[in-house]
Amino acid sequence: PSLLHEQRRRKIENDVVEFWYFMRSELKKMKSTSKGDIVRVVDRVLSDGANYQKTLHNDFNLLRNVENAGELMKKESEELGRLVQKRFKYLQNPKDCASAKKLVCNLSKGCGYGCQLHHVTYCMMVAYATKRTLILESRGWRYASRGWESVFLPLSDNCKDKKGSSSRPWADPDIIRDAQVVEMPIVDSLHPRPNYLPLAIPMDLSDRLMRLHGDPAVWWIGQFVKYLTRPQPQLQTDMENAKAKLGFSKPIVGVHVRRTDKVGTEAAFHSIDEYMLYVEEYYDRLEAREPVHTRKVYLASDDPSVLPDAKSRYPHYTFISDIEITKTAGLNKRYTDQSLHGIIMDIHFLSLSDYLVCTFSSQVCRVAYEMMQTMHADASAYFKSLDDIYYFGGQNGHHMEVLEKHISKQPKEIDMEPGDSVGIAGNHWDGYSKGMNRRTGKDGLFPSYKTQSKVVIVDLPTYSEVDE
Ligand code: GDP
Repeated sequence: PSLLHEQRRRKIENDVVEFWYFMRSELKKMKSTSKGDIVRVVDRVLSDGANYQKTLHNDFNLLRNVENAGELMKKESEELGRLVQKRFKYLQNPKDCASAKKLVCNLSKGCGYGCQLHHVTYCMMVAYATKRTLILESRGWRYASRGWESVFLPLSDNCKDKKGSSSRPWADPDIIRDAQVVEMPIVDSLHPRPNYLPLAIPMDLSDRLMRLHGDPAVWWIGQFVKYLTRPQPQLQTDMENAKAKLGFSKPIVGVHVRRTDKVGTEAAFHSIDEYMLYVEEYYDRLEAREPVHTRKVYLASDDPSVLPDAKSRYPHYTFISDIEITKTAGLNKRYTDQSLHGIIMDIHFLSLSDYLVCTFSSQVCRVAYEMMQTMHADASAYFKSLDDIYYFGGQNGHHMEVLEKHISKQPKEIDMEPGDSVGIAGNHWDGYSKGMNRRTGKDGLFPSYKTQSKVVIVDLPTYSEVDE
């Protein structure tokens, strides 16, 4: 299928999802203010509506796979992935390290594993864009004092030293152009901010990526994460052993429940029921297509009490979890070799799942979602976030392009004209999103279906040296 065809197909698929979010939310509101017969009618419409939704979802799935298109797309994704990984390898293994241009990134950002991995990801994106070999400083890492290479392969085989004839902190391109070594700050302190930060994608691959993937920026980010987290042989063995020990097999839904220090500061509390609603929906859809013998859930959490709670409330589900094996989760054990192992395993198994239910306010789940993209043709829709839409910390603005005129019907809504650009702050999962119309400067709600995510395409080095 052509790029335009794919874009139209995805738009319709998304419209159907948004339509149901809207109907369900309005019907639930109606139910809460009604009595007697009306409540029964609303319940029936909700239940039948869910069935229509299920069929529509499965129909779209069939459409995606018509004439073997799914397989062809999978091949295309693998081919693109190989090409990108080859470029990374080339960048990271310069012919002469002593004279190579370098970019230094220090892992000592004071935050969790997901946040630190995203920090290195952003550094490597800058390295790619500036054709500088990324040097990662990770000794004394809070998760493993021996550093990154205690679990992951070195980013380079021949160039790990940040020595160079001249070194400068990140600054205007004119100032740093000739410096052999450039030192990176954390993304929050990055000045100037280049246009190729997420959610941008490279121009030379943009046509292929946009045809392939519903959220090409995440595919692109996923490739960096993949390169950075290539496991050491020992970790690889541990992962395979854990897989067998846990009985990790498909179909399986990955659920990540982020609690402890996050609740009340950066995210709201969500009960296990809120997650399971979408797990249930996933399996109901799947069962309409094929028999499901066991409804399996891979459950990850920083709060070990989530597992017994889930097991007792959902006895007809099989929960598998690393919590059971290592019992390391929890604040007291944070930032130790053992906790590093635990979080790597959790992200690994979440990313191997068929579908993810979590809160995108957590970097743990966003990393899992990014890695998931490297294993499918297009897994952009294989998730349900209970809160945020996908974002990359420190990203450049995410804008929606307005496709249809909208006249606000209530004070909380904003007006829109086709062609307007709306900076999106979040989706309320009730048919409406929130954002700011850049033309009018007004902030408020707008119907999500009248807009479409804008893909930012930037000119980046094409690494023609390694092209097939
Ligand atoms: P965020 O704070 O959720 O956005 O993600 P970060 O990765 O930056 O920090 C959270 C840290 O808490 C993780 O890196 C882990 O150390 C720990 N953590 C959170 N969720 C889990 C989980 O599901 N499993 C394990 N093993 N650790 C977790």
